[in-house]
Amino acid sequence: MKILDIIHDSIVDGKGLRAVIFFAGCPHRCKGCHNPESWNIGYGNAFTITEVMVEIKSNKAIQGVTLSGGDPFFQAKEILELAKEIKQNEYNLWAYTGFTFEEIIKDNVKLELLKQIDVLVDGRFVEELKDLTLRFRGSSNQRIIDVQKSIQENKIILYMN
Ligand code: SF4
Repeated sequence: MKILDIIHDSIVDGKGLRAVIFFAGCPHRCKGCHNPESWNIGYGNAFTITEVMVEIKSNKAIQGVTLSGGDPFFQAKEILELAKEIKQNEYNLWAYTGFTFEEIIKDNVKLELLKQIDVLVDGRFVEELKDLTLRFRGSSNQRIIDVQKSIQENKIILYMN
């Protein structure tokens, strides 16, 4: 899997103190994207699952892990086993994606990664809907979804507004 950066102490990429993994590669090209350098998967460095887990575990205070980017669902196949390992270590797992929940569940590879996630912040960044007062998301079209409940009930259940 190709990774741009890993940080160990974020409080803005999900609830609590979190490690955040910024994956390289994003196909969405949103106008006003905060990080266009992340679009090119070639800018990422190759990491093994073991290497990423060592990074995550290096901060004993973190409560959860967030998959960000770029778009982690762009590398869904490569990231799936890492996501399983993160959950086996009992971390709460959030993910940011430019795909919508509805787009993800139509794609079997992306759906398998989704099944590992606790909370998904979905949808492209829409500059016209940018709102700095929103918590954990950039534009008002994006949703903060309770993934496990949504899969179970077969409809979108928001985790928070
Ligand atoms: S999904 Fe995120 S990283 Fe990708 S282009 Fe949109 S804002 Fe940028």
